[in-house]
Amino acid sequence: MALADPAVPRLGVFGGAFDPPHLAHVALVQAALAQLQLSELRIFPTGQAWHKARRLSAAEDRLAMAHLAFDGIAGARVDERETLRPGPTYTLDTLRELKREQPLAQPVLIVGADQALALPSWHGFEEILAIAIISVANRAQATGSSGPFDPGVLPNLPSGARFEPLELPSMDVSATDIRARAARGEALGGLVPPAVARYIDKHLLYRSA
Ligand code: ATP
Repeated sequence: MALADPAVPRLGVFGGAFDPPHLAHVALVQAALAQLQLSELRIFPTGQAWHKARRLSAAEDRLAMAHLAFDGIAGARVDERETLRPGPTYTLDTLRELKREQPLAQPVLIVGADQALALPSWHGFEEILAIAIISVANRAQATGSSGPFDPGVLPNLPSGARFEPLELPSMDVSATDIRARAARGEALGGLVPPAVARYIDKHLLYRSA
């Protein structure tokens, strides 16, 4: 990877439902901070996710868990704005706002390979690719391989789209599986940070699948 221009701050942007945040999210944030030469990494718990069929847990709970999971990581910061925006959450709106707030910064949008494959269906796909560099972390089940994500598999990729790999050991962890385990009353140790496991217990989250 070419060295980033030190005059251009690179702002990491990592969105998700975080319902709940889990150890693969934490590992991904740590890997991004270690590898992507970011000036800062913002984590955006989504408001009303347009692409998730399931009703998400209350934003209040997802934000509280995101703070518990990420606040201790130097350089990372939970940004609550998407949960405050009325209507469906679009990453494009967030990227436009960040460009207005930090015109000199280069946003680096960090996604797992499953989301990278879905990018062409995102609202404003072409503008997203014009604004942001896309950094893709491998997610083995998504690509069926453990190799780096190949942007060439995406249809209608605009010329000039910029991709950077993010090396992350393959972690077979998903929020879907964690919710199912919680519903069965199973312990969540080794899947979510301990403080998040305590929050789930205390607030009786995910008791039914
Ligand atoms: P769900 O199972 O409810 O769909 P999830 O585990 O995919 O949730 P999200 O909050 O939707 O979690 O994911 C936020 C981001 O983290 C997405 O870009 C997703 O690709 C990435 N991500 C989640 N889990 C992993 C993982 N195990 N490896 C790599 N990337 C991941």
